[in-house]
Amino acid sequence: MKLTTFLVLALVGVLAGRVAVASAAADTVATPKIFIHTGFENASPMNWRIDSAGRVIGSMVYDHERFSPNRAVNHYHFRVEAARGTEVTIILENFDNIWNGRLASDLSEKSRYVVSFDHKKWESRPVVPLPGRRVFIQFKMEAPFAYVASVEPYRISDLDKMLARIKQSKIASVTTIGKTSEGRSLEIVRIGNENAPKRLFLRARAHAFEAGGNWTVEGLVQKLLSNDEDARRYLKTYCVYILPMANKDGVAHGKTRFNANGYDLNRKWDKPADSLIAPENYYLEQWLHRMIKDRKKPDLALDIHNDAGGNLHISRPDGDISAYLSDMEKLDMLLRKHTWFTEGSTKPSFRNPGTLGEGLMERFGVHAAVYELNYEWIAGLKKAPLAEDWLSLGKNLGEVFYNYFK
Ligand SMILES: [Zn+2]
Repeated sequence: MKLTTFLVLALVGVLAGRVAVASAAADTVATPKIFIHTGFENASPMNWRIDSAGRVIGSMVYDHERFSPNRAVNHYHFRVEAARGTEVTIILENFDNIWNGRLASDLSEKSRYVVSFDHKKWESRPVVPLPGRRVFIQFKMEAPFAYVASVEPYRISDLDKMLARIKQSKIASVTTIGKTSEGRSLEIVRIGNENAPKRLFLRARAHAFEAGGNWTVEGLVQKLLSNDEDARRYLKTYCVYILPMANKDGVAHGKTRFNANGYDLNRKWDKPADSLIAPENYYLEQWLHRMIKDRKKPDLALDIHNDAGGNLHISRPDGDISAYLSDMEKLDMLLRKHTWFTEGSTKPSFRNPGTLGEGLMERFGVHAAVYELNYEWIAGLKKAPLAEDWLSLGKNLGEVFYNYFK
């Protein structure tokens, strides 16, 4: 071997060694300064990683509807763990929702998130929608942990606390009417005298992320159990029945919309529910049949939801609905008068068949509507909603129903 050949080969060997060292360095992964915790009640399923810029990239897991193109991610709820003072940047992806068979529009400029540094007091802050339906969130750690969520969470443990208070009351009761797909109990709360002149039925949380309905019900229950002069006056006029959390399984797992079988609990109300796929609806129907048989048919029913509009959704099944429409006009007016509601009712061109509102009217002859609470913005208060706003709405609903039935 010539000396030059030897030197060239030696050089190649040294370089190869360097390449090997360099690629070993590329395989080394830096220890992140941030941990994302999703192992607690109502936390949302997500994959996450830290990118080279130290940002958290969170890929949300879609909630899919059975035998349908529909999929949804609205809910996010997780805990950030990092040293106090750390600047945290989070990019959440997978908001390519499909609703009623159509790809959802871009994320709204009004999008908000809530954050809590003590798991008690929540603050609403704007998110920056990024191209490709991604959500950009940035904040500084004010404690070693931060809870981040799409709306202020209301969990099964919150419901259990409310049910425990109701069970202590002499004017209220809690009845288990059946079980969810995963075997959680479904309760109907009654507040007031069963022989009161009028009966009201409320359902909340058919869609798992829509905590606003639960906070609203909580506010109404607090007011009615307060036994103050107003509450006693209301309950002389009406008795309230509430299914406070229809989609308990979805809430437990931190999902967005469907029940554990991928069933939308606010669809297909034009037909009797399948007891295996939609037990949450099936047991509610059985309860309604019993109420009607006992001559206790509800005079009004509201299904409380969250969306980005905030309207009262008027049911429009075929047939003469003139008496119902004049009732809904009255309800709209009373909501404006006694609460912060300003969003108004849906127009005659709007129809959403298969909702609880339409099904209860068509199949059970109950005047019913879906009340959507805007989860991004309360126009009447010019602020993003927190639990306290929905609680105050609920407290004032007592007066709305009193005047509605009067
Ligand atoms: Zn909903």
